[in-house]
Amino acid sequence: MEQRRMDYHLHTLHSMDGRQTVDDLCRSMVERGVQEICLTEHIEPGHPDPSLDIPPIWDVYLSEVAAARRKYPMLTIRAGVEIGDNPLLRDKIKADLAALPLDFRLLSLHLVNGVDCYDVEDYFGGKTRAQAYREYAEAKAESILDWTDFDSVAHIGYAAKFSAYTGPERALVYADAPDVFDTILKHIIELGKCLEVNTSGYATTGDTFAHSTIIRRYIELGGEYFTFGSDSHDEDRNYADIERAKDMVRSMGGKYQASFEQRRMKLYRI
Ligand SMILES: [Zn+2]
Ligand SMILES: [Zn+2]
Repeated sequence: MEQRRMDYHLHTLHSMDGRQTVDDLCRSMVERGVQEICLTEHIEPGHPDPSLDIPPIWDVYLSEVAAARRKYPMLTIRAGVEIGDNPLLRDKIKADLAALPLDFRLLSLHLVNGVDCYDVEDYFGGKTRAQAYREYAEAKAESILDWTDFDSVAHIGYAAKFSAYTGPERALVYADAPDVFDTILKHIIELGKCLEVNTSGYATTGDTFAHSTIIRRYIELGGEYFTFGSDSHDEDRNYADIERAKDMVRSMGGKYQASFEQRRMKLYRI
């Protein structure tokens, strides 16, 4: 089984917070010797900041991807979505997604009880660290247990990305909610889905999202499938730290990284 240089969490100007064009993204990935990428543009239905609740214009997005595929035949380019889940609008989100011919669904959660964890004052205010992190984990469990039709679970531990905490208290680790993480991980494994290893955590927590302690537990429970993503929004971070994260997961006994074409999974060695 081959290895493959892939980045499965990427944003362009089709995301409201993206800062690179599809062409910038593809060119920089070819320069970095990357073989396959998947764009995962945001949808954030019902986000309290209306400027973030702006989905891609799907036909424009898909036609730009088609043009990039013609221009960069040496790069496999997949079109995906990062689903910003929202329990209040979940039925509509699922119905809207069903109409889209995407390669990959990355199931994500930014809102915890209606507040985005990046809003540090609103989210962390009046809570202990243990409360804030447990509340996130429970919301993530509620989200994932209500989904079956997705491919990979994004950045478990997102609450630590913009956390009120620093130093060794920053990372959200398995021990912060072991019972909840076990529920989440067993659901992923039972459905045969992937756990995302998101490298955007290295800059803040010094580890990945999910944290290495959660990845270790996933492997211990029998989890074998991973996707790796930089969660890059600009050219500088494309493919950042993916090889570092793969080395880490490989050293823990992780087996496969997945790619997706029209939702069909293909496995490569990590
Ligand atoms: Zn995200
Ligand atoms: Zn993202």
